[in-house]
Amino acid sequence: MEREGERGDASIRELLVWCRARLKYAGIEEYQLEGELLLQHVLEIDPARMFAGINDPVEPEAAAELRRSTDRRAGREPLAYITGRKAFYGRELEVTPDVLIPRPETELLVELALCWVSKHPEVPPPIRIADIGTGSGTLAVTLAAELGAASVDAVDLSPAALVVARGNAMRIGVEDRIEFYEGDLAAPLERQRYQMVFANLPYVRSDTLEAAQPEVRREPVMALLGGEDGLDVVRRLAPMLEAVVDPSGCIALFEIDPLTFAGTADLLSEALPTASVRVEKDLAGLERCVVAEID
Ligand code: GLN
Repeated sequence: MEREGERGDASIRELLVWCRARLKYAGIEEYQLEGELLLQHVLEIDPARMFAGINDPVEPEAAAELRRSTDRRAGREPLAYITGRKAFYGRELEVTPDVLIPRPETELLVELALCWVSKHPEVPPPIRIADIGTGSGTLAVTLAAELGAASVDAVDLSPAALVVARGNAMRIGVEDRIEFYEGDLAAPLERQRYQMVFANLPYVRSDTLEAAQPEVRREPVMALLGGEDGLDVVRRLAPMLEAVVDPSGCIALFEIDPLTFAGTADLLSEALPTASVRVEKDLAGLERCVVAEID
């Protein structure tokens, strides 16, 4: 049977209808939006041009590529791995299957960090920032871009992730203010002191990961899995923290799963006895970040 996507003379509208239907049938909740995004990606057009030319015919090669991309998405490959892009804090970042896909919830950490900077004008620039487990470089790159005067050290255990992170630093034009280190947690940073420490570590509990959407299980397990109670990696980082934070004033921001907020808060209180520790909620009202501040 002939499908719309296989006809060389199919219009954008016909392809969009076909693509959305295929995604809906595959159980993709956001099939309307994702269909548009796939089409825009394959045709390399923005939303305005897509809708302005909705009755325009599509080249057979592009239609064939849309069909391949749609099949991948219908196979529950994350959209960001197909398009190779994900927006975060208003910037388009590159992602590959070697890195966790940036989540909108992580923008909370950026907001809390920027708020801290505005409340601490006494901190002399450049603010020294550590991003532990940088992955795609999302936090490192965003903070370097948001805070003109910042110098960032970003660490990851995965060489493949660091390739993506360096690429993102170049894309956003902040590569001269970020150093990337391959290593375990804070180990490469031990001789330095930071006023800001980010840790979006693997924090998903084993049982949560088993029950997760198929898309999540396409992401690198080493970026997600925090062991039985979700705290394995936080537990390893906690004893390293005192040696890297600036004792005269600093903020540490740990992204968390709502299930791990109490455990993470306890570990941070123990690791940084002079810090005040609090939990912040995301826009969905869920505990998403543990903040430790030393004044
Ligand atoms: N927020 C991600 C998820 O729930 C997990 C990210 C992480 O482990 N740092 O899938």
